Amino acid sequence: MIKIDVISGFLGSGKTTLVQKLLRIYQKERIVLIENEFGDIGIDGELVEREGFDVFEISSGCICCIMKKDFVQVLERIIEEFHPQRIVIEPTGVSILSEIIDILGRSEFAGLLQINSLLTVVDCLNYQQQCDVFGEFFEDQITNASALILSKSQLVDPETIAVILASLREYNQDCEIISKSWDSLQPGELESLLDSQGELDLSEILHTAYKPCSENDIQALAVKTSRAYSREELEQILSRLGQPCYGQVLRGKGFLKSYQGYWDFSYTNGQFMIAESHFKTGGRFCLIGRNLREKEIKDLFKVKSGGLLHWLKL
Ligand SMILES: [Zn+2]
Repeated sequence: MIKIDVISGFLGSGKTTLVQKLLRIYQKERIVLIENEFGDIGIDGELVEREGFDVFEISSGCICCIMKKDFVQVLERIIEEFHPQRIVIEPTGVSILSEIIDILGRSEFAGLLQINSLLTVVDCLNYQQQCDVFGEFFEDQITNASALILSKSQLVDPETIAVILASLREYNQDCEIISKSWDSLQPGELESLLDSQGELDLSEILHTAYKPCSENDIQALAVKTSRAYSREELEQILSRLGQPCYGQVLRGKGFLKSYQGYWDFSYTNGQFMIAESHFKTGGRFCLIGRNLREKEIKDLFKVKSGGLLHWLKL
């Protein structure tokens, strides 16, 4: 049986970082990653491919609803061509976990796939806001998780962690919760999270989200640009991105040219991170949010000609 690990978690929670940690731990296994991304620029997928893992990207919609058929086909192809020992699935931040579990449990996969773990990454910095904005998707991901992993816990005070833990326990009474900083997380701890549990009891999967995630009003905007940015300039741009004139930007990610090389940036609800990229490709970014204002955003990033790669309502 092929082991399946599903890594859920909200936009910007740190799912991709966790996936990278897991892939490193399991690098001796034949392992395939299915990456479901908002937008169409393959940023997450590219990061992982570069480390030499097999990555399948499904980027033109969500695997729990619109792209369900493609998801099934990709799974069938992987099983047939790759004969992996393990498949790691990273859905988009607003996927409905119970729907994904249903798909994996279909009769055509009986005897082939075994759900090994359902991990959900919970962003401590943005917990309350995400509960408010995406309540039912969030609830589904938390309720049905076999383990919850708190991210950014080192950035909030112990009282806030206690409030988050109490809230998580209301949805999921018995799963394991990892609340310590990821830097101090030992590979063995992650391994035991994934593999100690044997076969998961899937009889208690709850469908808590009542409308398909494709009916929410999330958009993804992907832009390509060859323009170079200084760090100061990029900082200024990202610190303005939360203003209402750009729509409600929830998440952003990109590789942009600098004067010496490239920047990696990541943006979540007004917080951002800019780092020098040691990779030599770039010139694109993707924003996710509601009511995104294409023209204003392109003006902010000073993208002049064309540049729009993708404009998706998901
Ligand atoms: Zn969906």
